[in-house]
Amino acid sequence: MTAGTSRFLGAHTIDNGGLHMAVLRAGTAGMTAMQCFTAIPKFYGDKATIKPERVARFKAALAKTMIQPENVLVHAAYVLSVATPDDDKWERASAGLTKELERSSALGVGAVCFHPGSAGTSERSASTKRIAKAIVAALEKIDSTTKLLVENTAGAGKTMGKTAQEVGEILSHVPKALRSRTGYGLDTCHLFSSGYDITKSKQELTAVLDEFESETGEQPSFFHLNDSEGELGSNRDRHVLIGDGHIGRQPFEWLLQDRRSEGIPLILETPQLNYDIADDDDSPDPYDLKMIKLLL
Ligand SMILES: [Zn+2]
Ligand SMILES: [Zn+2]
Repeated sequence: MTAGTSRFLGAHTIDNGGLHMAVLRAGTAGMTAMQCFTAIPKFYGDKATIKPERVARFKAALAKTMIQPENVLVHAAYVLSVATPDDDKWERASAGLTKELERSSALGVGAVCFHPGSAGTSERSASTKRIAKAIVAALEKIDSTTKLLVENTAGAGKTMGKTAQEVGEILSHVPKALRSRTGYGLDTCHLFSSGYDITKSKQELTAVLDEFESETGEQPSFFHLNDSEGELGSNRDRHVLIGDGHIGRQPFEWLLQDRRSEGIPLILETPQLNYDIADDDDSPDPYDLKMIKLLL
């Protein structure tokens, strides 16, 4: 398979030793895109600012790689459930999302992606408005070129962002003037586990991407390339190496042939072999190398 030079492929690399080490590991793996966290993903991080020294180290590391800043994606903390009907929790999650955008803007990266969270006891439709309200709050407070992107989800329970229609509905509540600073991205594992059978045929995969494009009015701004441990429609969010799950290698080949995978970050969030890599070791993860070889 040939992904060509307009496909920017990378992974969420390990940040042991600091954010700049995640960048260097992506660089030594030969990646042209990457993803990282800017704070501990289990916490709201609504008070966490990023120090100038950290920003400087990050930018210096990036300059040593083939990765352009616009092809760096930051993954927001998982706990930022801006879909929640609980006002106190929403305030905190919204503040956390704004801080994510602030930190990512300081780093000068292309975008931050986030999972919208669960609608809880509320109507899904009302929840799409709260999600949009948090996007708008962040974009109004932080004026930058860094985008804030909704990620489709595996759809467990009342998790929002499960369908093309729902992602479209969330984005439809963002005023036109701010619309160019937001958008969405698609995770292959989440698509499959939420019931989109991207394994059926190339036509079917194309139709799924068409559906997202028509419901949102735009193309995705990133892809997460993950195989799925769970079956079709299982709503399980468990990523495995490409070829080890129920999606298999072929659909990724189709995806890399689609025009919509051009010019945007294509990020592996598949397991790593060396989670305990030493802080000062910038060698690439062997699993990432295996995945890149498989895809290119
Ligand atoms: Zn993902
Ligand atoms: Zn996932």
